[in-house]
Amino acid sequence: MTDAPRSHGRKSIAASLKPRELMEQNPALSGVWAARVITLFPQAFPGVLGESLTGKALKDGKWQLHTTDLRNFGIGRHRNVDDTPAGGGAGMVLRADVLGPAIETAMRGAQGRWPLVYLSPRGRRFDQAMAHDWARADGVMLLCGRFEGVDQRVLDHYGIEEVSLGDFVLTGGEIAAQAMVDATVRLLPGVLGNAASTEDESHSNGLLEHPQYTRPAEWMGRAIPDVLMSGHHAEIARWRRENAEALTRARRPDMWKAYCEAQDKG
Ligand code: SAH
Repeated sequence: MTDAPRSHGRKSIAASLKPRELMEQNPALSGVWAARVITLFPQAFPGVLGESLTGKALKDGKWQLHTTDLRNFGIGRHRNVDDTPAGGGAGMVLRADVLGPAIETAMRGAQGRWPLVYLSPRGRRFDQAMAHDWARADGVMLLCGRFEGVDQRVLDHYGIEEVSLGDFVLTGGEIAAQAMVDATVRLLPGVLGNAASTEDESHSNGLLEHPQYTRPAEWMGRAIPDVLMSGHHAEIARWRRENAEALTRARRPDMWKAYCEAQDKG
C-alpha cells in the first residue's frame, strides 16, 4: 500500500511547516497518543482541532493526528469507494474491499491498545467516561462513514465498535470524530494548562457545572453573586456545590439520581 499514515503535528519542525507539509513529513511517534482517522475528506482535518489548546498540543507533539484518505483505496480508474445497497433501496454503501485495505494501512505499526471505532448514529452514545477510556489507550482509530454507511462485514471482521455523537443523523462521521478527539485529547496529560479544570467540570464529578461569572462586576444591571466577590473560599465552594446540585437536579434527573445513589453509598 502506498498510503503511509499522514499526520498534522510534530515536536521539532512544527513551527516552520505548513499543515500540508506536516502531514507529509510526520512519522508516527511511539509513546504519543494518536488518532488515526479514515475518511473521504482528509482535508477536513485537523479542522477545529488545529485551534487553541488542542492545536497547540498537536504542534507540541503531545498528541498526533493521522488521516488515511479512503479515496486512495478506491477501485478502478474512477477510484470507486461505494456501491448500491444489497437488497435495493436509496443511497450508497462504502465497500468492504475498499475499507479493509484502508483499515489495514491506517493501523500499520500500531502497538498496544487501540479502540477501533466506527462513527455511527446506531452506536453507543459517546460520553466523558469513554473519553477517559480512550485517553488511557495508546490511540484510537476512527472510521468516518458517508452516504448510507459501511458494509456490515467490515465491522464484524475487525470487531469495530459503533459510537454515536448523539441521537441525530449527520452527513458524515468527520464532525463526530473531531468532537470525540477533542474531548479525549483535552484529558491527556499536559494538554490543558490548568489540569485541575478537568476535575470539577460538567460530567466529571457526576454533576453539571455551577454558573460562571467574570468582570465587569455589574452588567446590564445584573451583579455577580456577592459570595463570589467575598474572597471566602469555603463559602464560595459551598455556593458552587449547591448551584451545581440545583442545576443537575433541574436539568438532568438521570444524573441527579445516580449522584444521590453514589452519595448514599459513599
Ligand atoms: N444510514 C445510516 C446513517 C448514515 S449517515 C443510518 O441510518 O444509521 C452517514 C455517516 O455519517 C455515517 O456512516 C456515520 O459515519 C456518520 N454519522 C451520522 N450520524 C452520526 C452520529 N450521530 N454519530 C456519529 N456518526 C454519525
